[in-house]
Amino acid sequence: MTIELIMDLPASGKTTVCLQKIRQIKSDDPLASVQVLVPDSLQLQAFQKRLASPSGSWGIRVNTFAQFARSILEKALSGKIIINPSLNRQIVCEAIRHIQAKGKLNYYCNVWNTAGFSKVVTKAFSDFEKNCISADQMKSIVQTQQEIEINLIFEEYQIFLSDHGWVSPSGVIQAAAEIIKKKPDHLDPFRLLIIDGFDNFDQDQLWLIRNLEPITDEIYLTLPGSLQAEEKERLVNRRFSRSLEQIQKVLNIQIAENTVKSAIHLPDILRYIVENIFKQQPVKWIETNPSDEKSLILLEAGTQEDEVREVLRQMKSWIIRDAIPIASCAIFAPQLEKYAPALRRISEEMQIPLNFGRKVSLIESPVVITLFSLLRLQPEGLKTNNLMNCLRFPYISSGLTPEQVNWLDFISRQLSITGGSEQWEEAWNILQKEDATEKVDDEDGNQFLDYSCFPDSAELLLLKNGLQAFLDNITPPQGNQQIPVWIAWLKGVCEKIQLRSHIRQEEESDYFALTACFEELIIEDRMVPRQNIDYNDFLSALTETITASERSNPTQQFANSIFTGEITWARGIRFQAAAFLGFGESIFPSAVAEDVIIKKEFQDLLQIPVSADNDQSGLLIQILSRADEKLLISRPCITDAGDEWEESLYWNAIRQIVPENTVQRIRSSTKRPLSEAASEDEKEYWAVLQRKRDEYADDDNNQDMLEASQRDPMLEGLLSSGACDSCVNLPEQFRSQQIFSSSQLENGLYCPFRYFISNILFLEPIKEPAFELDTKQLGSLLHRILQLTFEKAENLTDKTFLLEQLEKACNCTFPKAPIIYQFRPSGLWIFQQNQLKKQLMQTIEKLSEISEGWLMVAAESAFGIRGKPFLKIDIEGISLNFRGIIDRIDRNRNGNLRIIDYKIGGTHFSADDVFSGRRVQLFLYALAAADALKIGRIEEGFYWAILSAKASSLKLSGFMDPQEMDRTATFRALIMEKIKQFYQILEVGEFPANPIDGKCPSYCSAATWCALFQREDRP
Ligand code: SF4
Repeated sequence: MTIELIMDLPASGKTTVCLQKIRQIKSDDPLASVQVLVPDSLQLQAFQKRLASPSGSWGIRVNTFAQFARSILEKALSGKIIINPSLNRQIVCEAIRHIQAKGKLNYYCNVWNTAGFSKVVTKAFSDFEKNCISADQMKSIVQTQQEIEINLIFEEYQIFLSDHGWVSPSGVIQAAAEIIKKKPDHLDPFRLLIIDGFDNFDQDQLWLIRNLEPITDEIYLTLPGSLQAEEKERLVNRRFSRSLEQIQKVLNIQIAENTVKSAIHLPDILRYIVENIFKQQPVKWIETNPSDEKSLILLEAGTQEDEVREVLRQMKSWIIRDAIPIASCAIFAPQLEKYAPALRRISEEMQIPLNFGRKVSLIESPVVITLFSLLRLQPEGLKTNNLMNCLRFPYISSGLTPEQVNWLDFISRQLSITGGSEQWEEAWNILQKEDATEKVDDEDGNQFLDYSCFPDSAELLLLKNGLQAFLDNITPPQGNQQIPVWIAWLKGVCEKIQLRSHIRQEEESDYFALTACFEELIIEDRMVPRQNIDYNDFLSALTETITASERSNPTQQFANSIFTGEITWARGIRFQAAAFLGFGESIFPSAVAEDVIIKKEFQDLLQIPVSADNDQSGLLIQILSRADEKLLISRPCITDAGDEWEESLYWNAIRQIVPENTVQRIRSSTKRPLSEAASEDEKEYWAVLQRKRDEYADDDNNQDMLEASQRDPMLEGLLSSGACDSCVNLPEQFRSQQIFSSSQLENGLYCPFRYFISNILFLEPIKEPAFELDTKQLGSLLHRILQLTFEKAENLTDKTFLLEQLEKACNCTFPKAPIIYQFRPSGLWIFQQNQLKKQLMQTIEKLSEISEGWLMVAAESAFGIRGKPFLKIDIEGISLNFRGIIDRIDRNRNGNLRIIDYKIGGTHFSADDVFSGRRVQLFLYALAAADALKIGRIEEGFYWAILSAKASSLKLSGFMDPQEMDRTATFRALIMEKIKQFYQILEVGEFPANPIDGKCPSYCSAATWCALFQREDRP
């Protein structure tokens, strides 16, 4: 008999025709046996839902191929045991070991015992089995050493399975097909067989269909695509055309007559895209019916996080405003595991229940993720970030209080602990010897390692012991062990960290599934005994078993939630509203990596068809036809690093043919009505951002926030004016009691909002512990060496003496530098010391050359700290006090002074920098030397670039009248004007985000909190 093929574009009613056929047969013969085969459990549920009718669905079975094949094996009493994926992987490992032991692995001799190799080999064997390729057949085809070795392992694997009477998970369909072929009477005949929802078939599936033909009266098979010559070659249909060729090689098919009329049941705009995308000459949309453009939204958001937020907001709007039932909505994303955390978090904030699709692997359970994070801590070098995350996991008891964990985090940042027990040991030693450690200040006079910030020694001891006890609990036994020994140890870990008692009720099933995996691993070990294995191999085996187990999902969750899944799951199922994320370059379509085992030539030899994952254009057309009413397609525009994220090929193809107003461009700073906010948090954020305090206040729900703001002047400022243009009513005491530094002055003059964030709110980005010196540490280190070099210098031009002093200063400073300046030296530190010494030698020589006639009178001269007088500036009856450390002050024969301010970076400063307020430190210091330290008249001053050994072209003398007796007078007017400008900012209390020249420096310390930060020039 022949098989009837129903082939047409997606959403053209193919499934409806199948359903009509079933109903027709059932109305003629209610006892008729009908079998429906669908690709996966999602389509199974969808088909069953559509099948449900008042007449019932008695005698109609809907299965996936795997379920159907299993039932055939069971019915046939074949005696075959279907093994689970974890045991299957173990058998692959065993086969690899055997071949290696026979000395037959040359090509793979260096990787044969790695977890990665067994994983890719298992995947390759699965592909061989699905394509009904046996080791014997392969033997006559293989050519290269690599192929020969794979063939040997495959042969060993198949012998192992056959000797034990086992069937691998991927071999089930082929085994069922063989049983039916040999004994067709094992199954009762079918009146009708429907194969629906597939866009391609594996060879074993086609074999099974072919072997079912003799016992089935009618077979209908649906396939998306087109039989028209012109349509067949359209990019989105090519995959389906190839599938048809594949089917025709195995099955005897004919085109079903008068079944589908190509009436695509979609809103006009979606139907238009389905019919025109990737067409050489698409019809212009303007010529078609523009009645329902709102059925499609193309959304360009900022980062991927912004994208998730906007998609969820749109979904919420459709559910609430357009009354689309929540269970008829779906969200799909490529690389779902990357989108899932943001989807979970933001959906919780917006109170939108998501149902993460079909059963997911147990390995994705938060309970399991927690446990594995702990287990991998030590093998991965006890990285500080991972350690802190583990100590804060809610699923365990670390034995430390949250405050103690915060202290450990603080210590790790202060002492640059990047990871490893040795670094922690070193840190405890440093903190215990605080009195013996030299104390140094930065150029604003703040102490580098301020010991008063750390807990006292008793608390430090508690922290040290607590951390050690936690690490002891999770430290694995040394060497190789048997699986039961590893499992016993692991159970002990779970008890010590009290995993069971911290698990939420709804996640208890995950815990039980996890403990079942422990037992499964022991049973598998009895079936295929392993040698003693080390900790890493144990973790790989455990991962394998857990990955193969599924999480159970409470069914009631499904009814009132948005279905959320991987983009490839969207095939064959339909929703009223659907959103597809990730149409950015390299996300969807994703780059396809070549299979490391079945390379292109090998694949051609074996005649294995191109995998569905490698042909994503067929998926695109399915995506475009998944929504009956509303379709949202989104893409991120900005990477996490702030760079532009290009649109994908598919996004571009859609955008090219749809009306321009279909594309919405939204950024997190886009101003929108508060009524559009999808959560209270978002509403509050928008109110702040858009200065809509009144509108926000009108809503009674927001009173708590407003009351809180009245108690807190900073919050008051934020709410009244927006986070980017802050207004704070600073008390007068703030101006008179505060001791300002030159950095604060420059911050305020450069951009008031930067000052507000850094110097009023004291917000600073959290610094991750890292190797090497940062700019601040390097600057302080070099300042200190120059101070020591010059402190005994009586003749600033005596290079020999100065270079000797430099040598001594380096010798005494470099060894202690990592402890004093809190950085973690890398292997390059020795090399870096030599390099710095060379640069310092050059600086000494160049400074000597311009010091004829000058004597140094002070180095690292403080004002406003260390008991030295402040620089007091009186403005409108209020004194502003300043502090700082002047790097070097020289005096000439006339008794006049010059100020030198060391910088490690460039010193390409101009007079404009001073007039604009960008660079005023030198002027402030000159004023302090004259007025606060009262050590003489200022004649000169400049910035000195230490690493390039150059003086700045910007010089104090350029702002002075050489005829003046007191040459301080001219520059005094300029710096006083700048201080007055700074004072006015504080007095008015307005801190607009308004950088000089509209340019934000890439290193702006407030950038993290500033919505207006742009890496390039602001418009
Ligand atoms: S990022 Fe730009 S606007 Fe924002 S605080 Fe910094 S300098 Fe000012």
